[in-house]
Amino acid sequence: MNYMPAHSRTARSGVLFDAARRVIPGGVNSTARATWSGWTPYPLFVERGTGSRIEDADGNVYIDYLLGLGPMILGHRPPEVTQAVVDFIENRGTVFALPTADEAVLAEKIVAALPSVEQVRLCNTGTEAVLYATRLARAFTGRHKIVRFEGMYHGFSDAVYWSKHPSLEKAGPDSRPQPVAQGPGMPKGVEANLIILPWNDADALRDVVWTHGHEIAAVLTEPLMCNTGCILPEPGYLEAMRAITAEAGILLIFDEVITGFRLGLAGAQGRLGIKPDLSVFAKGLGGGFPVAAMGGRRDVMSLVDQGRVSMAGTYTANGIAIAAANATLDMLARPGFYENLDAVSDRLRLGLEDVLQDAGLPAHVVGLGPLMQVWFSEKPIRNYREAERHADQALFDRWWRGMLSRGVLFHPGAYENLFVSAAHSAEDVDATLDAARDTAQELLR
Ligand code: PLP
Repeated sequence: MNYMPAHSRTARSGVLFDAARRVIPGGVNSTARATWSGWTPYPLFVERGTGSRIEDADGNVYIDYLLGLGPMILGHRPPEVTQAVVDFIENRGTVFALPTADEAVLAEKIVAALPSVEQVRLCNTGTEAVLYATRLARAFTGRHKIVRFEGMYHGFSDAVYWSKHPSLEKAGPDSRPQPVAQGPGMPKGVEANLIILPWNDADALRDVVWTHGHEIAAVLTEPLMCNTGCILPEPGYLEAMRAITAEAGILLIFDEVITGFRLGLAGAQGRLGIKPDLSVFAKGLGGGFPVAAMGGRRDVMSLVDQGRVSMAGTYTANGIAIAAANATLDMLARPGFYENLDAVSDRLRLGLEDVLQDAGLPAHVVGLGPLMQVWFSEKPIRNYREAERHADQALFDRWWRGMLSRGVLFHPGAYENLFVSAAHSAEDVDATLDAARDTAQELLR
């Protein structure tokens, strides 16, 4: 299978992939970049990114909607962030195992942006931040079970890393999905502390809280489902979730690793008007540098203060991460930032919808602001099982190949997203829509 019309155009990526495979299992350092995640016959190797563009090892340039899977909200190499990091390294250092004043400056900005966050702890990745949040919820409530939803992803720690996309034969009945191990190596027994539910189904949550509420420490959810394409919450669903958890003394944890600082300074929770107890942020926070945050109610966070719940790390709040995040948040806080980002993103989402509808394809584009995905499906998709049953993955694959061959890059997986950055212009979007028009005609053949 060739993903470029002339395969030779990406020959150097093929050569680099062969070399990498000799010393790196699978040739890549994350599953999402692997051949088995759709990058066949090999992933593109990147030379550099600049603004809204990415250049591969053969010198091909693409309009980039992959955006590092979300962090590059300012585009690639935003000068203000690069400069802040360089200044910090050159003038101050990197890691001290002691605090700097800059950490509290960053924490102040996060607390000011998010009404639900009274205190916040910093770390490096979304995986770590989720791990902290679930541990804290267990410590605060004295309960052990975590409710999570089929089709979501919360990082790769053993505690929550159950298959996000299990085969439906193994995953139990629709109303009560069973945890399916991601693969060998998961410790036995961890799944006893997980309850997996279908998303967008308040009754399923109500039922489980009715029977198991006294054992449930937290309900962990993305506010929009971003790990099975993009699925929006049905009207009233998150409100019901908030009410059910509050009544049962269960903490509501929003995993805003993708949505945080992308849908607005106050994340999806600000946009949708829901106040979780704890929240987790990562990607958008650091403008491309590894930094994450976990924060929320002061009474819950105070368990960390008293030293009862330990959160540690040699690299937590390192100088590079903090400098990058402080500079990124200053950019995001500029007047009009999100209005402009939304305007370009809406032009893309509505434009794609028009192109696909005009072509008569069974497709719709779902998203909010600078986050979206195309579903090739006659029916609307409300959760993971509906995606498995109704979405046409083969058509998505042809769509992806067609767009890539026309210079538009996004992830090959139908269950991933397209991300837009502040560096994307209306002209970028219009060029993308031209590519989409041609690709749509190709799909009809
Ligand atoms: N939570 C969500 C919703 C994610 O999408 C991801 C990663 O994509 C994570 C957590 C894990 O974040 P990280 O890759 O920084 O560990």
